Amino acid sequence: MKNSIKGAILNKHKNLLWRVFAAIIFLGVILSFVKIGVAVFDLHAGERHSMRFCVVPSENPSGRLIALTFDDGPHPEYTRKLLDLLDCFSAKATFFAVGKMAEKYPELVKEIDRRGHEIGNHTYDHRILTELSMAETGAELERDEQVIASLIGKRPAVFRPPSGRYNPGTVQVAASMGLFTVLWTNYSDYGAMRSSEVISNVMAAPKDGDIILLHSGIDATLLALPTILQQLSGKDFRFVTVSALIEANGKGSLRPGLIRSVLAVK
Ligand SMILES: [Zn+2]
Repeated sequence: MKNSIKGAILNKHKNLLWRVFAAIIFLGVILSFVKIGVAVFDLHAGERHSMRFCVVPSENPSGRLIALTFDDGPHPEYTRKLLDLLDCFSAKATFFAVGKMAEKYPELVKEIDRRGHEIGNHTYDHRILTELSMAETGAELERDEQVIASLIGKRPAVFRPPSGRYNPGTVQVAASMGLFTVLWTNYSDYGAMRSSEVISNVMAAPKDGDIILLHSGIDATLLALPTILQQLSGKDFRFVTVSALIEANGKGSLRPGLIRSVLAVK
């Protein structure tokens, strides 16, 4: 009698275990289908983008210039995709590279340069420079410069402090290394979860001489970029590097965007 009760309890437990096991397998299968579905949707979205958006702007009659900047890369998955999109529009941009990422992905740094874009200094370790001494700040900047110069054979001309945090000492150290300290006029993708937010931030009121802050590893930014390139092209903007913007500014009258975003010049 005792044994049969024990057997019944055991059987009950076995049944329960099988049910849990079957439920886990079932959930796994469902999740795989969802994952495949999302991947296929993304792929089609990507194809739609390339078919709809990949056009070279013909003219720049207004002569309006804008600098797209991508911080924190190079990024193993996103950087090449960003480069492909920029190529579609004959757009040049500035990539503010972090030294330790550049060491990890040297081929990407070389590719950014080979494809005609600018590589800026964004420190070696992405430290908040206002918490460092001037000597430590100098070491951060110099180490990043060495990594970049060893890969592309030239020193960066522009520098952006991580998180835009700087003090007079930061700017002084950068200037002593011949670097322009550059912030931004348009804070575009910070905290943005959706591509529509990035697009509306950039497109709210784009101006001649704007410097647009974007990041290398954000989904929303990558998805927003085709629309940003298309809409700004439609408004007669030409996409140039920050150095080209500074150079153009030097030749013409001062542009408000640059006055606000370039803190020190060599
Ligand atoms: Zn950064």
